[in-house]
Amino acid sequence: MIKVLIWNEYHHETFPGRPQELYPDGMHNAIARGIAAPDLEIRTATLKSDEFQGLSDEALSWADVLVYWAHCRHDDVLDETAHRVARHVRNGLGFVPLHSAHGSKVFRELMGTNCNLRWRNMDEREHLWVVSPRHPVAAGVPAEFALASEEMYGEYFDIPKPEDIVFLGWFKGGNVFRSGLEFTRGYGKIFYFQPGHESCPTYHNPHVLKVISNAVRYCARTAAEPRFNGEFEYGVEPL
Ligand code: ZN
Repeated sequence: MIKVLIWNEYHHETFPGRPQELYPDGMHNAIARGIAAPDLEIRTATLKSDEFQGLSDEALSWADVLVYWAHCRHDDVLDETAHRVARHVRNGLGFVPLHSAHGSKVFRELMGTNCNLRWRNMDEREHLWVVSPRHPVAAGVPAEFALASEEMYGEYFDIPKPEDIVFLGWFKGGNVFRSGLEFTRGYGKIFYFQPGHESCPTYHNPHVLKVISNAVRYCARTAAEPRFNGEFEYGVEPL
């Protein structure tokens, strides 16, 4: 079983509005239902889950992969929480940051750049193109698919050179974006995926859910990776 922790800041969906209409019990639960499968054991957590903001050493050690959605509460994630998550990723925890998680403390720490991008707060049609068809995260995903409405994220996206670009996004307004990206940090595999604006029905789209479920399996640590034991940077005994 792959142990999946889906974390959401859980803000936009908690008051009346379009995000709540689309995701009445939160995007984390929509994603959990959307990727549910016999080989996945899924838990969810939010910023308010516990004193560790849902991201305790215990929760992160349990998980093989962390799916992370955040937008306007980045600053409410404590530095120590972000460092804790980054440490677990470097020690083998898979990490799947979604959409506006590009601006999270965790992602920025792991990338080492400010991760800024161009954006337009006007929902518009996006086409996603597979540009690495043999990549496992693209398995079973059409060569091209459209989302009728997404927030425009455009280049330049200030990230280090990714190890692979699996999806390219094109927006009706003309912008393009590296939408599906693979990185490795320490023992941890990272896959960033851009679609998922809170006022769009993106996490009900079967192709988007397929990408996320592929990314979860691709990034999940296996028995070969160490599990952070709280002491050593990579969880390994000194020679
Ligand atoms: Zn957004």
